[in-house]
Amino acid sequence: MTKICTTCPYCGVGCGIKAEITGDREVIIKGDEEHPANFGRLCSKGTHLAETVSLEGRLLYPEIGGERVEWANALDLVAKRLADTVREHGPDSVAFYVSGQLLTEDYYVANKLMKGFIGSANIDTNSRLCMASAVAAHVRAFGEDVVPCSYDDLEAADLILLVGSNTAWCHPVIWQRIEKARSERGTKLVVIDPRRTETAECADLHLPIALDGDVVLFNALLAEMMTRGLLDEDYLRDHVDTPAGFWNRLTDDPAAAGIDRGLFDKLADLVAAHPKMVTLFSQGANQSVGGTDKGNAIINLHLATGRIGKPGMGPFSITGQPNAMGGREVGGLSSMLAAHMGFSDAECEAVQLYWNSPTIARQPGRKAVDMFRDVHDGKIKAIWVMATNPAVSMPDADYVREALNRCDFVVVSDVITETDTTAYADVKLPALAWGEKDGTVTNSERLISRQRPLFAPPGEAKADWWIVQEVARRMGFDDAFSFDGPAAVFREYAAQTGFRNDGQRKLDISEWADTSDREYDDWVPKAWGGVSPFAEGKFTSSDGKARLVAVVPPASELVDRALPLRLNTGRYRDQWHTMTRTGLSPRLSQHRREALVEIHPDDAEDRSIEDGTLARIMTPQGNSIFRVQLTDAQRKGEMFVPMHWTDQMSGGGRANRLPDQTVDPVSGQPAYKNSSCNIAAV
Ligand code: SF4
Repeated sequence: MTKICTTCPYCGVGCGIKAEITGDREVIIKGDEEHPANFGRLCSKGTHLAETVSLEGRLLYPEIGGERVEWANALDLVAKRLADTVREHGPDSVAFYVSGQLLTEDYYVANKLMKGFIGSANIDTNSRLCMASAVAAHVRAFGEDVVPCSYDDLEAADLILLVGSNTAWCHPVIWQRIEKARSERGTKLVVIDPRRTETAECADLHLPIALDGDVVLFNALLAEMMTRGLLDEDYLRDHVDTPAGFWNRLTDDPAAAGIDRGLFDKLADLVAAHPKMVTLFSQGANQSVGGTDKGNAIINLHLATGRIGKPGMGPFSITGQPNAMGGREVGGLSSMLAAHMGFSDAECEAVQLYWNSPTIARQPGRKAVDMFRDVHDGKIKAIWVMATNPAVSMPDADYVREALNRCDFVVVSDVITETDTTAYADVKLPALAWGEKDGTVTNSERLISRQRPLFAPPGEAKADWWIVQEVARRMGFDDAFSFDGPAAVFREYAAQTGFRNDGQRKLDISEWADTSDREYDDWVPKAWGGVSPFAEGKFTSSDGKARLVAVVPPASELVDRALPLRLNTGRYRDQWHTMTRTGLSPRLSQHRREALVEIHPDDAEDRSIEDGTLARIMTPQGNSIFRVQLTDAQRKGEMFVPMHWTDQMSGGGRANRLPDQTVDPVSGQPAYKNSSCNIAAV
């Protein structure tokens, strides 16, 4: 039997898999015991991957207007329409909306085409929905988007704070590593989450924080550490730039975060007693109108107490997707140019020179929500969506559908033929799925691993990097797009990270620029930046110092009497994103068969809503019907719904048609977790 080492396609833990091919699209999945992310462990989603690799529902041939066509015809049309649109309306009239499901090589080729050859930075990724706030917080504090920790730090910590993270469900193998640390070294666990999740149930201390109360809480915690004399004055002097008036602006009252003094003191006692502390934060922090500030409030605490760059210490953003980090690295976010370079004149010149490109994007492009607004308003006239389902996943999703419906030209590259987004496609391009793709991904701890093909490409499906390259060549850019495989793309990207980089950017993997095809095939996981990129206390800014960032809580909204409740959204343990893949697995569907609205019994009673019945959630953007689950794990006045269900799966339970288009003003990340709403029995 052939055994192939590859990487799980779901969350950002990035678990290694050993796949044993047993027949035609039949495979036995096991955890890879040598992979440093998981050492053989897998969660339910990874374990049941074999149930999701059938060809059911696959897009196998290119289509124009719903009719099967030859690849050449589809590629010619995409290239012509993109070129014509740019010629008539300028580079910013086209956009790519891509995905953390793409491999780094796919991202690199798409980013290169858009920013260096079309000349716009209108390429953004669904990672904008996931962790853009953490990226922005890293850049503000460290000067670069660098995750300071690795998973080993979780096993070396004496205290772990989980902020806005239902880790036991959403990053289960990280959870298993945390549980190991707790049983082996007595690590204490604090969960800061409005909901009493399965993770919170297991914690030593749960703080049921008010929605968006994190900045208040972490500012108060920092003020408390100052009062207790626990700031690391030496570290602050040598390694941290502190803005004038920073300390005076800290408020020390946690009440506005919904946390009473007794509970806060317990937290402060734990933090004071355990210098070896990791704060793991996730979408609960990031998906907020104040998401970047939350990240900086967490980082401030670690910098000011010197709890960073040492084993078992640091602020640790954990991401949702298998390649959220790889996309950030190559420039898949519209707010970065390439390889952790931004849009200064020197950086634009460096990237243009490296690519030998005819043009270069000189300013950030549209972030996801603004991108679809521009589509809606007719400023973007052609959009290419790759490996993602924005008609379901974007906030105010019905607006996005309207935008796609109005758009002159919509291209969708996907593996599934009928999604809520492919319904709007003028051209559908069949892409390779997990188990067919070949390339690299970077997980949440900067570890670069390989996804390897297990099966031959079905039908006429092609790699995403190849599809973009063929379009680029038809647009006249043959010389710059002549990669003969993913290894060649990887080499060019790796070399770019070292170009005009005399150590000022931590992202430098140019040592791997000479990776041969054979070495690429045999690649074993390696982390860039080492175990601890800030071990020497040297950061990316011009003076080498990190920065404390003064942060204030977001202004509270006036309560609309017709919409007095708040809506929070999130994930279920056994489903992934919009269920186009996990929805195929009967066993995964057993965990939760339908989308439930979790609501406090008092809120339900006020509205004569009973457990197990159907109820309609209303916001100004739309409404959707969910089955009701009464639970006191939910704070009064707040409700929770899962984000996964789509029109393809069911008529109801569509969470993302409900939130509005509010975003964090720094990161552009949507505020999915705190929407005005109401609910009524159906
Ligand atoms: Fe896959 Fe994440 Fe589960 Fe690991 S923890 S098996 S990467 S879904």
